[in-house]
Amino acid sequence: MKSALLSAVQTATDLLFPQRCVHCGADGSLFCTSCETASTRLQASEVCRTCALPSRSGTCENCFSDPPALNRAIAVFTYQSEIRDAVTALKYKDIRAISGRLGTLMAESMPNPNRTPIDTIVPVPISRSRLRSRGYNQSELLARQISESSGITLNSGLLERTADGTPQARTESIEERTANVQHAFRATTNLNELRILLVDDVMTTGATLNACATALKDSGAAWVGALVLAREL
Ligand SMILES: [Zn+2]
Ligand SMILES: [Zn+2]
Repeated sequence: MKSALLSAVQTATDLLFPQRCVHCGADGSLFCTSCETASTRLQASEVCRTCALPSRSGTCENCFSDPPALNRAIAVFTYQSEIRDAVTALKYKDIRAISGRLGTLMAESMPNPNRTPIDTIVPVPISRSRLRSRGYNQSELLARQISESSGITLNSGLLERTADGTPQARTESIEERTANVQHAFRATTNLNELRILLVDDVMTTGATLNACATALKDSGAAWVGALVLAREL
């Protein structure tokens, strides 16, 4: 009954405010099929398993000589044109509904559950002040959809951001980004050998995701991977 009402409301909303693609403006959906097809996908065989940067071998030289805290990093797309507009819509224009399609695309890139079992999905937390001004955590919206599509439980409360820090988008160098987030996260409970998949919108240097992975492992996580919508190359 409730969902019938919700879908009636949705239909009325669609009639009043028809959806347009955030990149090309085509009618019908927030992220149209042609923009989705035009977006550059990162193939698992062409990128490093732990930093998702282009690499001819499974693990790139950097990750081989200095292994990151993340056991695995999966990025669905490169961070450019169509996807950049989709992320801007989700993050800065309050177009939360686009998280449905974007999260579904991410869920399709989940690792094979037989080879890489995952116990729970955890979104990268944003700072309290950011949450107040934006009103929502975009990564949590993506994680919610991924959880729904994959059937793996979502656990947004497992990790918290303890320090506000400078927003990563405004920091300059890799060193600065790493120092900015190094001690910014804390697990809220003992993680008892859990295998955790972190979810974020964009991976830039990996500093944030690796700081999250370190915090989770310090509290007992056995394995921490990351699934992101887009990778900055
Ligand atoms: Zn489009
Ligand atoms: Zn690497």
